[in-house]
Amino acid sequence: MSIVRTRIAPSPTGIAHIGTAYMALFNYAFAHKHGGEFIVRIEDTDRKRFVEGAEQVIYDALYWLNIPHTEGADIGGPYSPYRQSERLRMYTKAAQELVDKGHAYYCFCDAQTLDAMRTEQQARKEIPRYDRRCLHLSAQEIERKLANGEPHVIRMKMPDNEIISWNDLIRGFVEINTKELDDQVLMKSDGFPTYHLGVVVDDHDMKITHVIRGEEWISSTPKHILLYQYFGWELPQFAHMPLLRNPDKTKMSKRKNDVSIPFYKEKGYIADALRNYLCLLGWSHPQEKDIFSLDEFISAFTMERMQKTGPVFDIAKLNWMNGKYIREVLTMDELMRELQSFLPSDFPKELLPQIVPLVRDRLVTLADIESLTDFFYRNLPLTKEALIPKKTTVEEAKQFLQVAIEQLEKFDEKDWVATDMETAVRNACDARGWNRGAFFMTLRVGVTGKTVTPPLFDTIQVLGKEKTLKRLHHAMGILAA
Ligand code: GLU
Repeated sequence: MSIVRTRIAPSPTGIAHIGTAYMALFNYAFAHKHGGEFIVRIEDTDRKRFVEGAEQVIYDALYWLNIPHTEGADIGGPYSPYRQSERLRMYTKAAQELVDKGHAYYCFCDAQTLDAMRTEQQARKEIPRYDRRCLHLSAQEIERKLANGEPHVIRMKMPDNEIISWNDLIRGFVEINTKELDDQVLMKSDGFPTYHLGVVVDDHDMKITHVIRGEEWISSTPKHILLYQYFGWELPQFAHMPLLRNPDKTKMSKRKNDVSIPFYKEKGYIADALRNYLCLLGWSHPQEKDIFSLDEFISAFTMERMQKTGPVFDIAKLNWMNGKYIREVLTMDELMRELQSFLPSDFPKELLPQIVPLVRDRLVTLADIESLTDFFYRNLPLTKEALIPKKTTVEEAKQFLQVAIEQLEKFDEKDWVATDMETAVRNACDARGWNRGAFFMTLRVGVTGKTVTPPLFDTIQVLGKEKTLKRLHHAMGILAA
């Protein structure tokens, strides 16, 4: 048995797509499960869609998600080059071999001719396809046109009525009749191969044993299988993964969901949480676990557990997963490290170990840190209305603050302990028969400027005596105005 080798073959067309990470994760897991290698090849032959710098964005995203490859266009490897634009002579040679063997032919039809052909076929209610007029050119004609430098492509000569089948590792037995297939262009007039020729030549040259890719390529697989046969090469195994979908079941796209991996990084998703979430799209853990490490995924992963229907990429579920990682999976140290790049410049770093435990349960993403902690280091604007809860008068609110101030003043800096302060303040409230809800609301707003905060006295403890009392006096002033 040859060593398992899998790959992804993204095209550098702009963004590092979630779908690329999804394919990478399953290819990586499959390879590692079998002690094999995972490779990143760059399919950059569509020069119209090529975007400078896009390749690096893909590597960065994969490294961030901890899905490393051992061979690739960035790091090289035994089957270099791994970038299609650097492999053109291999495709030219392969295409020539197919022409020589009679499995491919030169086509000199220009865009206008092809358009007219399509229009006529549609008018006759036929499926548009190339009508093979160039297949019948004589050897002399072809030679003359080539010598004249006439623009041309090379097309695959599709068998007329042949059933091509394979055992898909996810979908089982699949068969497609070649009569449904057009005479596929293999070499374009710009001298670059199409995807179909490139992918077969590369997967063969790079000794890929398992082609694990999206279901949108199913209808291309018969063409690829025929090419392997024409070249006399051993076939890889195929597995066609389900396509990720939007909640409305349409194909996951930019319009409905954010699909770029750096977007999730910048929004404060934990790489491992996103990775864990992707594992659960179309696959489930044999013990129904939600949370598991990459290593555990590798050992539990089997193709048999893959579903065929497109799983929904649901941001609400990802948020749940991210919160779970923040609350339960990361250690406090790991969380603090992750938070570093999300802290605003005025965040008091020395207070991080005290502040984080107070807001940890409410962080959905790391970027929430600012909005959940701003009152610790910023004096937020206060309004009179906010200090006066429902069914409370201004006078009552003032008394609430006055009593709280009196109680808190009794505590020295060294005795500034949440539980003790809470008992004292609560007793003072109860002794006066006040409504606790209203009393603590005025106090909370007075201290923080917000109606929703972490536990009030823990907050007061972190703020310290000076800041707390200063804010309460300031609130008194607002009520008095
Ligand atoms: N370049 C193709 C893509 O962007 C690769 C498909 C394949 O894995 O064969 O999806």
